[in-house]
Amino acid sequence: MRAIDADALKRLLLEMKYTKGNPSLILTKAGEEIYNSAIEMAIHMVMNAPAVNTAPVVHARWICGKYYNDVYGYEKTCTNCGKEYVVGFDYLFCPYCGALMDGEENESD
Ligand SMILES: [Zn+2]
Repeated sequence: MRAIDADALKRLLLEMKYTKGNPSLILTKAGEEIYNSAIEMAIHMVMNAPAVNTAPVVHARWICGKYYNDVYGYEKTCTNCGKEYVVGFDYLFCPYCGALMDGEENESD
């Protein structure tokens, strides 16, 4: 499942509504009404879709330390929880605190 911004999707759908000046879409009066009511129906479905509980994403990055030849990897420290591990590859998420290791930092950090 992927959580999305329903308000942003509503704005996109509203931009898709037919207007007379739209050069990429030529509709009859009846076609225009059907097209626009389908857009309104989609907006209604989006705005009435059930919400899901999502945890806020914690952003962090790895601080690279000493290199270990035996595991072909660096000692890495999570900027969120401060835990260290040594492995020859990078995790996308910290295995200790679950922070997303995308190189950004949370505002409060
Ligand atoms: Zn961590």
